[in-house]
Amino acid sequence: MSDVVEFVEYTKSITRNIVIRERIKDYEKDLKAAKMELEDHNYEVDTSEVPWYIEAQGGERRTLKECADLQTEEWRNIEIKLLDAIHLAETKLSSVRSDLARSEEFREWRIIVDGFESGTTLAPSSSEALKVAITKIDRSDYPYVETTMWISVKVTCDESGEEDLDTVALHPDEPGCVDGKNHDWQSPHKVVGGREDYPGMWPNEAGVIIREVCGNCGKYKVTNTWALDVATGAHGLRSVSYEKPDDFSLQWLADKR
Ligand SMILES: [Zn+2]
Repeated sequence: MSDVVEFVEYTKSITRNIVIRERIKDYEKDLKAAKMELEDHNYEVDTSEVPWYIEAQGGERRTLKECADLQTEEWRNIEIKLLDAIHLAETKLSSVRSDLARSEEFREWRIIVDGFESGTTLAPSSSEALKVAITKIDRSDYPYVETTMWISVKVTCDESGEEDLDTVALHPDEPGCVDGKNHDWQSPHKVVGGREDYPGMWPNEAGVIIREVCGNCGKYKVTNTWALDVATGAHGLRSVSYEKPDDFSLQWLADKR
């Protein structure tokens, strides 16, 4: 592509997105106006959020759509054209938001790490925004990671209504070995236990738990290949933890020497 063609394509893309964004603003205004008109008619409508609700008798809450569909006695006084106006504004808004979501325009994403607002980023898609969000995870926020934990990362674009999630595994730091050596993970049956033909291995649903011991320092490493993230219910994850040397591993080391 020549520079001129690229420039023209770029300009077209910007123009198209300016139109989308103006429409989003317009339709947001339309929606607000439609809701206000309904409020003005004193229908005791909570318009603070979408979907919004009408307090039914006895404290029961229904969406306006449900109310319109039901057409029961208690809702008969609502003018359907007001509901239609809201529905129309919502449909138009949702349609232009989808246009923006499909575009490659940079848009603002709010980053939520582990449930906490962690700034914003500009990105052309949720996957790009997630890549930035993952870098916001600060290992020093989790100084006492004793076993693998999973940190949820979420990005939300208020303008387009998009949302995306990811989960990042945070493994504990491997403790040091002795004399500047690297750990030498082994599975001597008399130390790690389990079945003699599968020392240090235990079935765990569709995976295994593996217990190993270091032939230099006597520390243990426990790997679970079917771990569960309690927060999300995701399973089949890999977790790792380390344990201090004990009498069995220290005796084993002494015997080896
Ligand atoms: Zn070691």
